[in-house]
Amino acid sequence: MRNKKSEGPAGIKGLVRPNVLALTPYDAKEIPCLVKLDANESPYARPVGPGILKAVKTNRYPDPLAIDVRRAFAKRMLPARTGMDWVLHGNGSDELIYNLICTFGGPVVYPTPTFSMYGKIAQALGVKSAGVPLAGDFEIDDAGMLRALAGGKTGIAFISRPNNPTGNSFSEEKILRIIGRAQGIVVVDEAYQPFSGKKSFLRHLGRHKNLAVLMTLSKVGFAALRVGFLAARPELIAEVNKVRLPFNVNSYSQAAAADALRNFGRLEGGIRKVVSERKRVFEALSRMKGVTPYPSDANFILFRVPLDPAKVYRLALKEGVLLRNLSPAVDGCLRVTIGTRKENSAFIESMKKMTSGGQAVKKSGTSGEKRVRK
Ligand code: PMP
Repeated sequence: MRNKKSEGPAGIKGLVRPNVLALTPYDAKEIPCLVKLDANESPYARPVGPGILKAVKTNRYPDPLAIDVRRAFAKRMLPARTGMDWVLHGNGSDELIYNLICTFGGPVVYPTPTFSMYGKIAQALGVKSAGVPLAGDFEIDDAGMLRALAGGKTGIAFISRPNNPTGNSFSEEKILRIIGRAQGIVVVDEAYQPFSGKKSFLRHLGRHKNLAVLMTLSKVGFAALRVGFLAARPELIAEVNKVRLPFNVNSYSQAAAADALRNFGRLEGGIRKVVSERKRVFEALSRMKGVTPYPSDANFILFRVPLDPAKVYRLALKEGVLLRNLSPAVDGCLRVTIGTRKENSAFIESMKKMTSGGQAVKKSGTSGEKRVRK
């Protein structure tokens, strides 16, 4: 028998930890569209090698240590004299962010605006967090980050490089200064590094015991797998590994990810195409009256519009193009993911219609979509 008295939203809410009560869920709903440019995915689906998925034994648990895939990551990505004990696997890098905060606690410090999950996961875990505003040119405030961290001897700084959603790569020198002076852990999140032409922080791991680097397969053609990696010195990896749930990456994803890493060269053509299309989209946006695109090292471009961003979002969607409205987190701005040439042309055409005067939309300062998730 169900006890009616204990049911109902009010009753349940009274039982929820206050930090969770105040959270807004990640809204995973699919918005129908013709051209999906909202989630920083790759426009190119890459087939997994023949027979790879067939060989998966569905009756057995996945390899809890994901040895094959960690070894493939270490071989492909890590500097010499390291190995798979410098790598941890996650169900996407999201899960590794969760594991890191679970392991090291707070304060969790990050520049703003940035990827929203650093703050959301900190809140879910009941850990204090602080956003340190970026300077006007979107450069990181290293002194501000250090001040925010200095309150305690612990804590984690999350630094997305290139940064989502601004697209720029923060100064390497400033990040190294934070790593050198911080008492706690500094995580450089390189989800978009493959598009940047800038060297990875992986080469600094040997010298800094408080440095960790996050990477993911999600942006280079394998978002469906949910596979991310944490790279750091083995003593850091061993601690984070204690909070990782067993069997966190399923066998299909492990097999496909190992195959992708062993054949990473096959992904490079797609990365190059995205980078060259990024230039074309940037130039097209620059030519539109009142539109300001911001230079990007990632697979997306942040751009400011002279109209109400919520209306730009709606009008683009009417044309079948799904964007991300970043207002008010980044006031007056939207973000477009770089797609195929055809998809990008559809986006450019929809923007041209709006900015060439045909669709004069008054800027109203309405809130629009608030989430900055993907
Ligand atoms: N870090 C950054 C900066 C991101 O933008 C994202 C996803 N958009 C992630 C991490 C999470 O990636 P994953 O799919 O590996 O969980």
